[in-house]
Amino acid sequence: MSEIRFQAVRKSFGKFAAVDGVDLEVRDREFVVLLGPSGCGKTTLLRCLAGLERVDDGRVFIGDRDSTDLPPRRRRIAMVFQSYAVFPHMKVYDNIAFGLRMQREKKPVIDERVRSSAGLLHIEELLDRYSSQLSGGQRQRVAVARAIATKADVLLMDEPLSNLDALLRLEMRAELKTLLQNLDATTIYVTHDQIEALSMGDRIAVMNKGRIVQLGNPLEVYDNPSDTFVGGFIGNPPMNFLEAEVSANGGASNAKLSGGSFELTGETAALAGHNLLLGIRAEAIGVETAAADGLGRAKVIVLEPLGSHNLLTVRCGADTLKVSIQPDLFPQPESDVWLRLEPSRIRWMDRDTGVAIHTGTEEFATETAVVTT
Ligand code: ATP
Repeated sequence: MSEIRFQAVRKSFGKFAAVDGVDLEVRDREFVVLLGPSGCGKTTLLRCLAGLERVDDGRVFIGDRDSTDLPPRRRRIAMVFQSYAVFPHMKVYDNIAFGLRMQREKKPVIDERVRSSAGLLHIEELLDRYSSQLSGGQRQRVAVARAIATKADVLLMDEPLSNLDALLRLEMRAELKTLLQNLDATTIYVTHDQIEALSMGDRIAVMNKGRIVQLGNPLEVYDNPSDTFVGGFIGNPPMNFLEAEVSANGGASNAKLSGGSFELTGETAALAGHNLLLGIRAEAIGVETAAADGLGRAKVIVLEPLGSHNLLTVRCGADTLKVSIQPDLFPQPESDVWLRLEPSRIRWMDRDTGVAIHTGTEEFATETAVVTT
């Protein structure tokens, strides 16, 4: 078993807290993505797990073993770095064999593992080449083959695709996901690319300023962000946030936005006493080109055709919103459109703290994480 547990882990550089009290449990053989903006502490957290940084405080468990004070080589971890760290003066074969030789494996074992790992990454024909003669994508494959050849219990990947061009990145993303599904390792994968995180992870741990602000499966973090940071960081475009006031109106409640007001169905008691932001995803806003009951008027600012859908930027009162519409609708700039917010997709946030407020009437993604067995 190789579950991973961070317990109140802290790591500072001088006075700067790079990791500021992280608690995280990764299940055996799970694929967890650490996602967050540049400088939020992802790499430092990974290095604490690998033993490349000493934690200032807290404990790190691998399996049921407290590994906080173990040297890196005794943690049974393999790591793939952003820079690949493939040795240019060595042939591909020797690069892949490197970790196995460090582990003092026997020659036939090394040969079998090198060839089978190279096979999985489709680089058998490159084994005899020097790494300096490889393309970026090929070098990246060598780095992954070297990591998986050791059959480590835990695989750590730090932005392994970030040096590849967009097309290759897309291809490798799916390939890596398939490959990792068939391995027995518990994997932590670091990226600041939210599409990579959503598409690959069983669960995503979203980091900001040295802390984990949300842990959940991709649908949860997309659909039910824990705060305005997560709603704004995940999704392209980010979640729309509009200042709102909610007031009781007889038995019903009324939400007032800068561009109009509408009646709220369901429970709203939890919203009382908060300065509010209404959060809504671009695809949860319906658009009509003629006025109708319950729709607020907005003016089109920009129309961006994106092939699979069109992205509209509209102004509604003092708010600017991103709205995604079907690809055969082309409302022109300066024209009026009418918006309807899908009630079950409305999320409420406290305007002062940014934290989500649940009313109990939202529809949330409930799909549970799939752990490969
Ligand atoms: P990126 O996505 O850019 O790689 P990250 O989330 O992985 O960022 P870290 O590399 O963990 O971020 O760095 C977190 C913070 O700690 C940054 O502000 C960084 O400057 C600082 N930091 C990291 N390593 C050191 C170090 N050895 N000495 C001083 N400061 C450091």
